[in-house]
Amino acid sequence: MKLTNEKIQSNTRFSTNYYERTKKDIAAYEADQEKTHRLKEQECKTCYYLKGGVIAGDAMTSYKCRHCEKENWHENNHPPRYCKNCAASHEVCVRCGASVN
Ligand SMILES: [Zn+2]
Ligand SMILES: [Zn+2]
Repeated sequence: MKLTNEKIQSNTRFSTNYYERTKKDIAAYEADQEKTHRLKEQECKTCYYLKGGVIAGDAMTSYKCRHCEKENWHENNHPPRYCKNCAASHEVCVRCGASVN
């Protein structure tokens, strides 16, 4: 892709949009207004607000919980690290194992 003025302008728009989006995500993290839903999903604030943009296909995927080592199914191809039971009983995030509070 040649660096025309137009190309640079559109690149700059993408770059600025990314910054604006990240700023919004951080504001959402700090306000934590979706706490009820977040806790239902059993995710920490970082995974819920800042890493939410992962594009996952909707194919069922099997994964092994890293705590209880049971095989589980997840509804898309972005499975968590821990099963909901283990995460809930330790009050941690299913994705990264950090405290959800
Ligand atoms: Zn488990
Ligand atoms: Zn997390």
